[in-house]
Amino acid sequence: MSKEAFDWKRFHAYRVFDEFLERFVIQRKSYVTRHDDQLDLDAAFKDIAERFIDGADESDKDFEQKVARQFTGASEQTKIVFANVEYLWAMPMLNITPEGKRAYALRWFSDPEQVVNGERYFFSAPHIIANPGPWYLTNKYWEIIAALRVLSTIAASSAAATVDQLKSQVAEICRKALHEDGAKRGIFAVPHFCGAHPALMHLADPERYESIISDSHRRQIMAVFGHVVAKPDNDPEVFLKQIRSTLYDSHGLSADPDAKYRWFFYADDLKPLWIGKHSAKEQRISSAILDVRAEEDALDIKDVTDLEGGKEEVKGYRVRRSSKLAQQAKERDKFTCRACSFHFEDQIVHVHHLDPLSEYERPKDTKIEDLVTLCPTCHYLAHYWLRNDPKYKRLDPLLFKLQITLSHPSAK
Ligand SMILES: [Zn+2]
Ligand SMILES: [Zn+2]
Repeated sequence: MSKEAFDWKRFHAYRVFDEFLERFVIQRKSYVTRHDDQLDLDAAFKDIAERFIDGADESDKDFEQKVARQFTGASEQTKIVFANVEYLWAMPMLNITPEGKRAYALRWFSDPEQVVNGERYFFSAPHIIANPGPWYLTNKYWEIIAALRVLSTIAASSAAATVDQLKSQVAEICRKALHEDGAKRGIFAVPHFCGAHPALMHLADPERYESIISDSHRRQIMAVFGHVVAKPDNDPEVFLKQIRSTLYDSHGLSADPDAKYRWFFYADDLKPLWIGKHSAKEQRISSAILDVRAEEDALDIKDVTDLEGGKEEVKGYRVRRSSKLAQQAKERDKFTCRACSFHFEDQIVHVHHLDPLSEYERPKDTKIEDLVTLCPTCHYLAHYWLRNDPKYKRLDPLLFKLQITLSHPSAK
């Protein structure tokens, strides 16, 4: 990670979030409309709970029709508060247009001048935090309740709070909602996953919490890349950061350093490895691809030393590897795959390190006995099986397993 502090407030979403907390929660005034009266937030949240939750409409009418009916005859204050909550839900997201974000607030007020205007309030990339995908929109009813839950909780205890104090409360409420079932109680209880929680958590503390809205994205990233961390933390948010910092220097290549920093796991060289990989088998194949790439890339470093891991400072996942030692291993094995005997013009061979995981923790002396020549296919398979069982760090079980796999490719 960058040594200087990253200036998140160059992007409107983070600036707006702070301003919103200051104006709406501390001063109790509307942020998204020009109304200047002080709001009785507790009364408004209570009214919204009665209309929006107790008066829930299970029909298949769309959100617009439902809220129009539920808020018929509501006070201006209730409408203003609901407009602000809906604004916060829509504000940081890419897949709602700036015009769409403003239209939500406009629906309540006959005079368009009552709703704020312009790019500093309604924006798109790069000022958003994420594209949350279609779930965030289809789950809108519950997402709004999740946002109501967070805002009503901090508003109830906001006396003399600072924006920073409110932000740490938001982050903690959302972290508990995500990881400790902490969202299932109270008038704004939510029974299942809501993207509003990771979104608000990230807005409140972007350095600590990744901008990953989807629950399945988080789980896929941890499943595919988790093995690169030597000592995984029990806290999934810390674990994600451990993975990020291990891979950061050698991955996430992007012409835009801001994009790498803000959406590291969505970089072109990482996202295809994890996205949509739901089964354990697909995840292990992706892990194997990552590992083989890292091993092969390491050999591109020509500065030869037998001390793998290198004497110079080596960070992250791309370890230094001795190309001299790798060449010796290939010569020893006559450029032939030790598992399947594939040979072609002394080319198209990889050198596999039997105990690659040890490389992640510290530099170590590699001996030629730790290396084995494999063809690319057997190499990917070797890493696939290694993700299943550490016994494949030993040469004989590994070669045996590879031979079995090649003769019965569908074997488990
Ligand atoms: Zn082979
Ligand atoms: Zn390997």
